Amino acid sequence: MAILTINAGSSSVKFTLFLGDDDAPRASGIVERIGLEGTRLQYRRADGKTIVSPVVVADADRAVEVILSALVHPEHGGIGGVREIEAVGHRVVHGGERLTRPVVVDAEVRAYLESIVPLAPLHNPHHLRGIAACERHIPHAVQVAVFDTAFHATLPRHAFLYGIPPAFYAEDGVRRYGFHGISHKYVAAEAARFLGRAPAGLRLVTCHLGNGCSLTAVRDGRSVDTSMGFTPLEGVLMGTRSGDIDPAAVLYLMERRGFSTAAMNDLLNRQSGLLGLAGVGSNDVRDVLSAARNGNAQAELAVEMFCYRIRKTIGAYAAVLGGLDAVVFTAGIGENSPEIRRRITAGLEFLGLFLDAERNEAAASGPRAIHAAKSPVALLVIPTNEELEIVRETRRALAARTGA
Ligand code: AMP
Repeated sequence: MAILTINAGSSSVKFTLFLGDDDAPRASGIVERIGLEGTRLQYRRADGKTIVSPVVVADADRAVEVILSALVHPEHGGIGGVREIEAVGHRVVHGGERLTRPVVVDAEVRAYLESIVPLAPLHNPHHLRGIAACERHIPHAVQVAVFDTAFHATLPRHAFLYGIPPAFYAEDGVRRYGFHGISHKYVAAEAARFLGRAPAGLRLVTCHLGNGCSLTAVRDGRSVDTSMGFTPLEGVLMGTRSGDIDPAAVLYLMERRGFSTAAMNDLLNRQSGLLGLAGVGSNDVRDVLSAARNGNAQAELAVEMFCYRIRKTIGAYAAVLGGLDAVVFTAGIGENSPEIRRRITAGLEFLGLFLDAERNEAAASGPRAIHAAKSPVALLVIPTNEELEIVRETRRALAARTGA
């Protein structure tokens, strides 16, 4: 039995192939720069060898075709034929209010996903195209959608509602949905496993710090608050997103500068955050940190703002959870930047968080503890693995379907 995971985006389709119950991928890769110059397939075999080849791909449909021919390649492929693929697990950013757990895609699910495209116009249309491509090229396989919003379906009303009249929630769906749920759920479960604890009774703050950043307060394995909201713009500072900003400032700027909604959206989502604040022409924290080290005061301020807002949110979530058992770092920055982890946790000793400088700096890649022996609260680095979470959810959806 083979399961393929698909993450179809605006200019790329990522894939991972899993066989049986094996958690190690048999093959993985990406078709990138779709619709741009230099479209290529990066294909990684189980032995780690990566093959990069130029491809002619203009859309997700053709990308899936290219991926399938790579997967059945006699030398590099992971399977003998497309028929071996029993299911495809699709990463879908937004499941709206109704799709709060992984689902087998049928006409009703597809129609609902179409209806909520306005909630995630930059993501869901691409996911729908990825699903359609797989339905066409792997028609016998079960298509399962796994949602980034689903983990946050357990947020209580007082955490997910905004302070506006309830009609805007009931009639327009304006509420906090939260994102990065696949990653938060995965690292929360792995953190419990690492600590040798059951999820029940455990109070975690999971910090997904990549190009997009969000924090989640997790109690008993369930999300009880998260920093992203109606869209991924809310919350902490990110690579190119502003994070929290007084909505009145947005209105003010639109009036004063005559910005259209598209221009304002571009400013907040693509020109802000580390990119806009540091002004070093990069949203990569490594570039901003290196500019700061070289004496660039604006870059230093951007790093300080980035860490300050995360620190502030950890404090807020300690209040939400009534105390902490562990803080977990994950994703590109969370897993790889000791300096950012050090700066975030500095000053949080009063909450029982004591970083061990040596453990924090140690070059390592797997799940690890970076707190001092005396620290009552654990500090963990848990590499995220969204594909593995998607395949696990897909297996569960298949089992539920067959009543296994
Ligand atoms: P992600 O969205 O999880 O792929 O994370 C991407 C971000 O992680 C990049 O923009 C970098 O800021 C950051 N990142 C990746 N590798 C490193 C590294 N070795 N050290 C510091 N930051 C890194």
